[in-house]
Amino acid sequence: MQEELKKILDIQELDMQMIQLMRLKRQRQNELGSINAAQESLKEQLGLKEHEVLELKKNIRLAEGELNEVNEKFKKLEAQQHSIKKVDEFNALNQEMSQTERERTSKEQRLSEAYDKLAAEEDVLKALQQALESTLDGNVSIEKEIHDSIKAINVEGRSLKTQRDDMVQDADPETFHIYERLLRNKKDRVVVAIENRCCSGCHIMLTAQDENLVRKGERLVFCEHCSRIHYWPESEALDTTAVATKPRRRRSTSKT
Ligand SMILES: [Zn+2]
Repeated sequence: MQEELKKILDIQELDMQMIQLMRLKRQRQNELGSINAAQESLKEQLGLKEHEVLELKKNIRLAEGELNEVNEKFKKLEAQQHSIKKVDEFNALNQEMSQTERERTSKEQRLSEAYDKLAAEEDVLKALQQALESTLDGNVSIEKEIHDSIKAINVEGRSLKTQRDDMVQDADPETFHIYERLLRNKKDRVVVAIENRCCSGCHIMLTAQDENLVRKGERLVFCEHCSRIHYWPESEALDTTAVATKPRRRRSTSKT
């Protein structure tokens, strides 16, 4: 049984590397995701601002047209002044002219405000365009670096997979099946050494009886608390300095 577990332990080390690798890959993919999200958000802001500037320009053209009309109207009224003879007609004309003048002043005022607003919004638009440009420029190299690292991760992952497939061929199918099921649940080491009579997976103390069962190694012994498979580190009794080290180190020393 201990021999069978040794094979599984080797597979487990590859699986731990693979889990690490996949975690790294997800992390890098998330980085790509947030870079793209930031770019998209800038593009969206830019689109909204462009629309706003277009609307402002449209409104300004309308207001300019209206101002022209008022100016024309005022000129016509001015021209009428000379042909009027009666006082009451003259007064009425005067009143209309001053009303038109007020209208003109208010339109000019509003137009001047609109020009100011347009200038300010065009500045914002330009700043957004520059921000997007420099973001896109800067992201090119970052994205390339991430894509390259994901490619490297995939290559390493494929090589781990090949090694693992070979090792699995050599392992006891039943033990391997149990191991894989546990691994899928825990995504962590599931074949663990006993250290100081504790499960090194969950660090809960075992009974002397459990410890003996593991030491005998006649069958698989599972941790009562965390369901991990226990193995007896062969150097335990001989090498007391190794007690505090990780099961992985101890396993390699136990091979010698
Ligand atoms: Zn445990």
